[in-house]
Amino acid sequence: MTDHIANDDQSKPSIARIYDYLLGGTDNEPADREIGDLFIKELPGSPAIARANRQALIRAVGAMADAGIAQFVDLGSGLPTADNVHQVARRHNAEARVVYVDHDPVAVARSRALLDGDERTTVVQADLREPAGIHDDPAVRELIDFERPLGVIFSGVLHHLNDSERPADPVRWWADRVPGGSLFYISHFRSGENGEARVLEQKLQASLGRGRWRTDEEITALFGGLDVLEPGLVPCSLWRPDNAGPDGAGRPGADERELTVWEQLISCALARKA
Ligand code: SAM
Repeated sequence: MTDHIANDDQSKPSIARIYDYLLGGTDNEPADREIGDLFIKELPGSPAIARANRQALIRAVGAMADAGIAQFVDLGSGLPTADNVHQVARRHNAEARVVYVDHDPVAVARSRALLDGDERTTVVQADLREPAGIHDDPAVRELIDFERPLGVIFSGVLHHLNDSERPADPVRWWADRVPGGSLFYISHFRSGENGEARVLEQKLQASLGRGRWRTDEEITALFGGLDVLEPGLVPCSLWRPDNAGPDGAGRPGADERELTVWEQLISCALARKA
């Protein structure tokens, strides 16, 4: 099966551009919209997964910055959208530095265009399965002080790795190299006991050649030995839901049964290296 995960051939779909389309962005092509429309029309309500994911990321970056994290590595950062990691972080800490990493050439080109002239960000085109190259990139070493705690972000990306690609490995690799006090954020498709989850997974596999829903236990295991912080691994809409402005708000006061079936299909957690 063809693996359309990162490409600048605009006749083929890319994860980054489909996600942009589902978030209401305009940086996408007919091939991306065709798949996006499959989700929108055949599984109405499913774009809520992308929105809940993005809103939780905004709250998580704010929480990390409030906890004193001033430098971030955002792995699988995607196309620039309304509220990017450096913009969110700088609302909390004006000095925040961010490394954006994606293997998709279009996501990288758009990010570079947006960040041109911003000396406290850099954009690296790389595969997160090869973390040493990212860590040793001269532009990254210039920006990031690896002696100081880091925020490491895997938002909506590890579910694009199949089990054979060992999705826990990049998390462990970074955890072994950053100082104590560093924070790790993961959001991930969550398996559900419902038909919607199965249909979505099949569609993702058929259109992109990859994509793996995981159980709460499997997602928690991706953190290895890191200490998962309150409230643990929960659906994104319930993760510290009132910790942001209107664009990043979750569902304060709700419990899981009040979420739509779609909102239940994406979970996240924040963990700390002791
Ligand atoms: N992190 C953003 C967010 O949560 O809003 C974007 C998530 S988007 C669904 C997933 C991104 O991960 C895409 O831009 C895709 O190109 C990127 N990606 C997927 N596999 C990757 C890999 N192995 N290495 C680097 N980037 C990857």
